[in-house]
Amino acid sequence: MRILLVSPQSGLWNSRRHIHMGLGYLAGALLRAGYQDVTLFDGEVEEEPLAEHLARERYDIVGVSSPTPLIYQAWEAAALAKEQGAIAILGGPHLTLMPDESMQRAEVDLVVRGEAEETIVEIVREIERQPGTGRERLAGCDWSAMRGVSWRDARGLVVHNSDRPLVHDIEGIPWPAYHLFKIERYTNLNPLTDGLDPHARAYTLLTSRGCPHQCVYCSKPITGITWRARSPQDVVAEWRYLVQEMHATEIGITDDVWNLRLDRAKELCRALIAEGLTGVPWVTVHGMRADQTDAELFRLMKQAGCKRVGFGVESGNQAVLDAIKKRQTLDDVRQAFRGAKAAGLQTMGFFIYGLPADTEQTMEDTTRFALELDPDLANFMIAAPYPGTELYEIARRGGRLFSQDWRDYAIHDEKARYELPTLPAELVERKWHEAYRRFYFRPKRIWKQVTRPDTWRRLPSYAKDLGRFFVGKRKA
Ligand code: SF4
Repeated sequence: MRILLVSPQSGLWNSRRHIHMGLGYLAGALLRAGYQDVTLFDGEVEEEPLAEHLARERYDIVGVSSPTPLIYQAWEAAALAKEQGAIAILGGPHLTLMPDESMQRAEVDLVVRGEAEETIVEIVREIERQPGTGRERLAGCDWSAMRGVSWRDARGLVVHNSDRPLVHDIEGIPWPAYHLFKIERYTNLNPLTDGLDPHARAYTLLTSRGCPHQCVYCSKPITGITWRARSPQDVVAEWRYLVQEMHATEIGITDDVWNLRLDRAKELCRALIAEGLTGVPWVTVHGMRADQTDAELFRLMKQAGCKRVGFGVESGNQAVLDAIKKRQTLDDVRQAFRGAKAAGLQTMGFFIYGLPADTEQTMEDTTRFALELDPDLANFMIAAPYPGTELYEIARRGGRLFSQDWRDYAIHDEKARYELPTLPAELVERKWHEAYRRFYFRPKRIWKQVTRPDTWRRLPSYAKDLGRFFVGKRKA
């Protein structure tokens, strides 16, 4: 069985340039199940378009992973796969939320909902049992008892089988097939930010899956409100593999929330220190909870090789934080930034404009809070009401969604995707632009930037970014 796992090219600004963990995990599961002919096609780094690749190489199965903004490209990939005679399977967060939307399209053969490592193996086994090659095998497949799958019956009606329960013991899930990534084509962990080697062999790693919090804007359809953690020993084994076998020069923890338990976070740092795995710099890519930190954790992180920590600050107004169910206080955030800086870590803050309960004054509070915290990097975002989130329902019921075109949901797009009667889009966009200007165009910041040794080398990319911040884009 020849299997291709695809992540479509996004073409979106600030698109990811680090490895796609979802594809890596699927490939890992397939390899362990005995399917050795697995290829990864990450559109972000491939040198040829998918159409050319598929014209040259034949596959039995093409699996496409898609978040919400890339669903159109995922359909295009499915159509190409089908044209070439392969079976087209879609999965990922958007498909978990909206399987029908894709199953209504003839180019999509199957949709996988939820965590897919077990499902993909069962699907490939079922296909393999059938005679013939490629799509010929589809006719005889029986999907009726397979959990987590949406399919079409003999009459062409879409059937959504029951959900597949989450894997309880995530240590049993095979590691991502790191060796299948063309690692030299990836950049450092976050091109929008800086501070680490832009040409690093950057790998990412998950120490836990999910998050039990329910912030109204957060989309985590696959893992829901669970948190399943690996033991520090298990994480350290994978870390060692990345350092010693894959020659990682940068590691990113990409958990939703890696420090949900303070004691475990400290234990992990201590284990890295004890194993001498402190030489490769690491960062927390998606930020960490400010309320589960203390001075000792930051000291241990620094000692364990951590370079930069990010925090989801979101708002500088307590009433807004409460309204979005963030369950953190402004003082938690202040203390976390103080502790991280005191330990010598670089800091990054994520701030959101246009949240429910926001007003001109509360967004002003957010900008002032960013200036007060003064992280090394501030990432200002406009709230995106992703389908399946409470924010989406708030916007749909009480306001006006500007678009159902999922391409508009790219997280760093600089336009409002919705407005509420109390929160006009123009106001949100103005405060968002203003935040960037006031944060990055202070004499202190400008001086810091021009005195950085790599500023001049990076000038072209800075110029491009600035153009986007100040010129903006047409509103849909
Ligand atoms: S934003 Fe962070 S803390 Fe909130 S639900 Fe999402 S992952 Fe959890």
